[in-house]
Amino acid sequence: MLDFAQSVKQQADIVKVIEGYIRLRKAGAQNYSGLCPFHKEKSPSFSVHAVRQFYHCFGCQASGDVFSFVAKIENVTFPEAVRIVAQKCGIPLPKHEFSSPEQAAEARLRAKLLELHEIASAWFEEQLRSPEGAVAREYLAGRGLNPDGIKTFRIGYAPDSFNALRDRLSGMADNETLRASGLFSSKEQGDGSLGPIYDRFRKRVMFPIANESGRVIAFTARTLETGDKAGAKYINSPETPLYSKSLVLFNLDKARASIRQHEFAVLVEGQMDCISVFLRGIQNVIATSGTAFTEQQVALLRRHTSQVVVNFDPDAAGSNAAEKSIALLTEEGFTIKIVTLDGGLDPDRYIRERGVEAYTAALRGARRQADYLIERARLLFPGARSEQKVKAMNFLLPHIRLMPEKLARDQFAADAAQKLGIDSAVLREELRQAALKRRERVETRAASLTEVERVLLRALAITDPEDERARRLAAEALAQQPAWFEHLGTFAAMQALAGRRANDPIEVVEDPAQRALLAEALLAETKPPLEREVQSAIQEIHERAIENRQRDLRALIAEAERRGDFAELALLTQQKLDLDRALRQLHRDGA
Ligand SMILES: [Zn+2]
Repeated sequence: MLDFAQSVKQQADIVKVIEGYIRLRKAGAQNYSGLCPFHKEKSPSFSVHAVRQFYHCFGCQASGDVFSFVAKIENVTFPEAVRIVAQKCGIPLPKHEFSSPEQAAEARLRAKLLELHEIASAWFEEQLRSPEGAVAREYLAGRGLNPDGIKTFRIGYAPDSFNALRDRLSGMADNETLRASGLFSSKEQGDGSLGPIYDRFRKRVMFPIANESGRVIAFTARTLETGDKAGAKYINSPETPLYSKSLVLFNLDKARASIRQHEFAVLVEGQMDCISVFLRGIQNVIATSGTAFTEQQVALLRRHTSQVVVNFDPDAAGSNAAEKSIALLTEEGFTIKIVTLDGGLDPDRYIRERGVEAYTAALRGARRQADYLIERARLLFPGARSEQKVKAMNFLLPHIRLMPEKLARDQFAADAAQKLGIDSAVLREELRQAALKRRERVETRAASLTEVERVLLRALAITDPEDERARRLAAEALAQQPAWFEHLGTFAAMQALAGRRANDPIEVVEDPAQRALLAEALLAETKPPLEREVQSAIQEIHERAIENRQRDLRALIAEAERRGDFAELALLTQQKLDLDRALRQLHRDGA
């Protein structure tokens, strides 16, 4: 596994891999920067070194190699990260790639489930084209979907049968795997055991849910029954080893290119809304599937944009989910605008009835979040009575406090006071306090490095055997004269680097602050230091060590003089003369 990982790492380009998740721009000869996907920020403190193949965030101190990035962002184990990177780079996997049998079994299960979902999708599509699929085709046509659109979203039909899909898949996997797929249900027996499996989705239109790479991992199914037999209008796949509802944004796989291009995402509630808007050419649209945003979904989205136009359903439930989502997005530093479509229409109906131009115009006319919330406060608590005003304000205060930026909070508070007609000094003061309250997140920026430290750190981090002599020069000086280096702020990092074997430099330094300093030195370099540079850095360190010692001696000499301790004075003076001579010698050598 480790040999394989090593070879994948050599072939993978960390910049390309990371660019698959977040936007990077070139920041130097060999490094790139972007907004960190692991913490909230508005200005980039996340850097990637193209040659040394590591990333480092000066904001949250996240750092590591391509595998640690993928493991962290995909929330997977190291072996899985290796596999994902290998796949992204088109490197075939060896047979034995997992360190434990459990991991191997889990990976096999996931692979099998992906395969089953792919076959099920194709089969549902086939059923939609069959004679029995007529009722589903009719439904879809009624919702304005043409065959191209159906094909794009791979919409299908689950026939009215308890065993059709089971029969299709039963030869391909054992019972336990079929159960794990979430495509089947079973009833609990009298003795507590599970009964035989049967098709979970019956007489329903099937909408596949894909992961970010576009592979089907679950389904949403809409009933075609009416009356008592219908059951829930929509049902979803349960949580499975492939699918977790809170981790997926519907349509992100298809929307992400457009989201980056337009630098914002349109967020709608339902999958049908999303499909409808997408198929009419507005491709930067994603859906939450009728629930409020989760933190993981926000993190997923932040890799692509930090601007969202929210277009939820105008009904009460919609507004509730909208408010929760808006609150979370605000807190995470997103810029949010809100669209309310007139006529109380949802995005699907609006775009079908009024056309894409009208919808585009509505998106363009989206209101700032503050204006939207103030308006809602006025609708919820109408009237001029002070009681109502207090309620309206209490509705707004939490939203104001969530905003990460002081300026925006001030503006919001001032607008609210004015639009709600709040003239009470007490209430105004409370608004002002809300604007003041949120503490700015203080980014821990690395202390700056001296030139000498930069040279030494870079030398100690050399990995290319061709430059080995420069590395050894620095490592030996450190081993032989540690006292010279002790006063440096990066002494701990230097020691760790000097003691490393073939490891990645950035990984042997464990202390986050030290690691940040090392990353800063490495990110600024264009090529490894020459022996000559290392030599003169060591000399400068040596000189400085002597100067420090001289300073100490001067203090001690003054002290001995004051005490009248002449024996001590003679000793110290001799030491100081020796040092003076050593320093002169050093200057001559250096010249
Ligand atoms: Zn960060």
